[in-house]
Amino acid sequence: MSTAAPTLSISLHPSATPVSVERRAELLLDPGFGRVFTDHMVTAQYADGGWRDAQLRPYGPLSLEPATAVMHYAQEIFEGLKAYRQPDGGTALFRPDRNAARFRYSAQRLAMAPLPEQLFLDSVRVLVEQDRAWVPTFPEGSLYLRPFMFANEQFLGVRPALQYFYGLIASPVGAYFPRGVKPVNLWLSTDRVRAVPGGTGDAKTGGNYAASLMAQAEATEAGCDQVVFVDAVERRWVEELGGMNIFFVF
Ligand SMILES: *Cc1c(COP(=O)(O)O)cnc(C)c1O
Repeated sequence: MSTAAPTLSISLHPSATPVSVERRAELLLDPGFGRVFTDHMVTAQYADGGWRDAQLRPYGPLSLEPATAVMHYAQEIFEGLKAYRQPDGGTALFRPDRNAARFRYSAQRLAMAPLPEQLFLDSVRVLVEQDRAWVPTFPEGSLYLRPFMFANEQFLGVRPALQYFYGLIASPVGAYFPRGVKPVNLWLSTDRVRAVPGGTGDAKTGGNYAASLMAQAEATEAGCDQVVFVDAVERRWVEELGGMNIFFVF
């Protein structure tokens, strides 16, 4: 096989002002989904043909110029995975290497510089270790991890950017179905599609989600919870749901 790329180590700059134990306990009582964030994040920058400046640092705002490429041509990808509290108090991830591989695939599809899979895995490990106290202990709670990457070169020409930002943030979340598993009503959309042959449906990019929101709004208006998308060509084969996978039992 090929020689392994040298791994980039993540420098640690932990927060001098983490959230207090009391405030954290309060936030963890009912975190909902994607509203509460931990004390830290991991960031890295791609420039001059290589990844550099990987750091664990306090969670906080990013400063971007108006000409930042992602805001114009949407070179952006993300992932989603969870860290789970274990009965012995430890923390476990579910095959994060598969998320690292999919992140690499998505980057390639969007003509972005792929993040080394080892750096993806190291970032997840470092953040979960640093913010372990934020992993919920209540049943079905977990720490949702959100890796993302976008073109942050300041340039308005249409071509793959030469600079990328990688970020990893973490959010404690409650049960996916907080009131138990209840049936959902589905809206079968036949005029809007989510993925087309040759398109980007198999890459995890924000644009796919933006393009699906109008169908979701139509579903909501019709009193439904989720959209069922059919195939783009014949409009008769069920492909997927807006927010989750779908299985049929015969
Ligand atoms: C991320 C994603 C899912 C969920 O996939 P997981 O492997 O469970 O993360 C399902 N459908 C689409 C379109 C997605 O982007």
